[in-house]
Amino acid sequence: MTTPDPQSYHVLTFGCQMNAHDSERITGMLEQRGMVPAADQADADVVVFNTCTIREKPDQKLYDQLQRVKGTKRRRGGNQVIAVGGCLVEAHRDNLLAEFPWVDVAFGPGRIRDLGNYLELADGEGAGVGHVPGESEGFYGIADERSFASELPTRRDRPHQAWVQISMGCNMKCSYCIVPAVRGKEVSRPFAEIVEEVERLAADGVREVTLLGQNVNSYGNHLPRDGSPRTFAELLRAVDAIEGIDRIRYTSPHPAHMQGDVIAAMAECAAVMPQLHLPMQAGSTRVLKAMRRTYSRERFVDLAAKIRAAIPDISYSTDIIVGFPGETEAEFLETVSLCEEIRFDGAFTFIYSARTGTEAAAMEADFIPPAEQQRRLEHLIDVVRGIAEERHTRHVGQVQEVLVEGAARRPAHHLRGRSPHNVKVVFEGDAPEGAIVPVRIVHATSETLLGRQVTT
Ligand code: SF4
Repeated sequence: MTTPDPQSYHVLTFGCQMNAHDSERITGMLEQRGMVPAADQADADVVVFNTCTIREKPDQKLYDQLQRVKGTKRRRGGNQVIAVGGCLVEAHRDNLLAEFPWVDVAFGPGRIRDLGNYLELADGEGAGVGHVPGESEGFYGIADERSFASELPTRRDRPHQAWVQISMGCNMKCSYCIVPAVRGKEVSRPFAEIVEEVERLAADGVREVTLLGQNVNSYGNHLPRDGSPRTFAELLRAVDAIEGIDRIRYTSPHPAHMQGDVIAAMAECAAVMPQLHLPMQAGSTRVLKAMRRTYSRERFVDLAAKIRAAIPDISYSTDIIVGFPGETEAEFLETVSLCEEIRFDGAFTFIYSARTGTEAAAMEADFIPPAEQQRRLEHLIDVVRGIAEERHTRHVGQVQEVLVEGAARRPAHHLRGRSPHNVKVVFEGDAPEGAIVPVRIVHATSETLLGRQVTT
């Protein structure tokens, strides 16, 4: 008697770190159910697309993927379950399954916990086509009922680094952003539950955690004020106290919620790294107001200076949108000059992309022509690259503690890892993955530090 082969899966992730972390939960859950990774998407019994809708590009990529998988599913005689999850599902809940009827399961980011049940129902129909009595259109499970998937097992690609979700949703109203519509109101995970998860991760060999939330530093604002710890600053301190956790990072904070207690916790906690992703978005106060970012250029400058005074060697990274509706050349140049003033170590730069349902999408009359947006983007990229290279050059000659992530792709026989400032370091050395080793930096580019491990 032979045992049937286990079912195989393929998960494709689009978008942000939150999505990447959700996919870790999804793969962990699939493996707990006895499934194994497929060698190729076409070979998979279950294909899961974890989608993003923050910009237009990922939408298009998903549509291309869905067309491709339609052919595969047909060639397999329908014997392939297609599940689509994430933000795009929430945004297109009214038409996704009508447009792509070969999709079996659609689930929102707040329903990952239920995906296993949905899949069971979907392939319970035999050929895996996923028609379920009374539910011929698949399973959204999006509704307003959302829950953290924290009890699901996680399959991490890096054994020594982990993401920890501390909140979901966002209560801000940035005029360009679809997140509040697709991820819902902000909900904070219970404080003790997060600390317990980090303790478990530390016991499992994790040395670096990144606390995740759409607006991570407003964590706890809606937790009960019963005297027990509940603020983001208290959470940083509690995680810092966990034995075995050597590095703490977090993303993404909102400048408006960067209070003194958080800055003090960053400065005082040895494990909180001297690096901060501080989304600026634009350098003009008028544009920031139109974006509803709730701070002015001057307040952003003051905040960056205040943090730098508390943590002198801090590295900033940021997000910047160019070509927001109505942005003039002079306002764009204010963004450039703010980058020059703050001196970011890195920046994610984007062309404004209208998302249906957002306030800014209705500013059509003020849209900037794509060619002009592209020109501004290229100019900005040149500026931020130059500043990043100059900032990284300050590390040349220093010895940095590098968390080893494995073998570098090139040059041959080199290792790669991350510095405390979260810069990629490629170096000559000999150390196992997960070790933290001293590396003397000998060269810097805008994205990478090169070095040699220091041996005693
Ligand atoms: S803070 Fe603004 S940009 Fe960030 S998720 Fe919330 S609404 Fe979107």
